[in-house]
Amino acid sequence: MLRIVFALFLCVPAALGWDAAGHRAVTRLALERMPADGPAWLKTPDAIARIADQSVVPDRWRSIKIGQLQHANNPDHYFDVEDLEPYGIAFADIAPLRVEFIKQLMEVRCAKGWTRSPKPVNPARDTDKTQEWPGFLPWAIVEQYGKVQSAFRVVRVLEKINDPRRAAQLEQAKQDAGVHMGILAHFVGDAAQPLHMTKHHHGWVGDNPNNYYTDRSFHSYIDGGVIRLHKIDTDTIRPRLTAAVKVDARNPWLDVLTYLQRSFDQVVPLYELKKSGDLDKAPGKEFIELRLADAASMLQALYEAAWTAANPDQGAIDEFKRYDGFGG
Ligand SMILES: [Zn+2]
Repeated sequence: MLRIVFALFLCVPAALGWDAAGHRAVTRLALERMPADGPAWLKTPDAIARIADQSVVPDRWRSIKIGQLQHANNPDHYFDVEDLEPYGIAFADIAPLRVEFIKQLMEVRCAKGWTRSPKPVNPARDTDKTQEWPGFLPWAIVEQYGKVQSAFRVVRVLEKINDPRRAAQLEQAKQDAGVHMGILAHFVGDAAQPLHMTKHHHGWVGDNPNNYYTDRSFHSYIDGGVIRLHKIDTDTIRPRLTAAVKVDARNPWLDVLTYLQRSFDQVVPLYELKKSGDLDKAPGKEFIELRLADAASMLQALYEAAWTAANPDQGAIDEFKRYDGFGG
């Protein structure tokens, strides 16, 4: 029996992010706040329910034990800011392109003569071969933002072409947009969970002068337990929503870093709340609601920016027709 319990423990994923309820709430609130003159097809109860459910999908990928998928997907859900310290790289200075970032780290390793990662890797637990990297959440968000913009572009092009024979094509384009919006919602939601921005993701590790909580279960408690305790849902988060966030529609990289930094800044306050016992009282409820509200505001800003930037000019419409080969 003990062996089974131990085996189950080893199978616990490294970091899931909010439970489904948290991801769905973030997505619903972002869609609710889309402007009235925005795409009406995104504001129907059916579309909101579908996209909210889609926001859970990147966690479902984690249970498929295909090495290539786990290697690529698992580190997309987090970024451990402290892992940059040995490299002498500030979070604001990480390379905006994913592989360029890996090169950025490797160049420091070469310059310092390191033959391996400065971050300890436990081969027995590094089954997806990702432990040596801080994670790739910032890139996952902006890459996915681009896919949402592309999907919106196709919808807007087809709406302007306005050809009834293309009805199935337009419907599929809308479905595709919903899929990509849900995936973006997932990663934006994960980023608001402060434990996805720190090496202290499953309890405090290393030096612990403030005697912070060290139990691994802390992560899953924040993902879901504390949400259930305080009965947090869309109705309780909604009053916490801040004024509309603005992002650079052409390239929201810096806005995404600012958003991630806000979450990282809440790591120590979260551990303080745990230590004082306030996490399970009103201040803890407010803290979690504010994190989820920040995610919803950021997500809404990204959706809106992607929709605006996707507005096609005549050149884009002509190009679409040229490569689309419709009816051919
Ligand atoms: Zn996740």
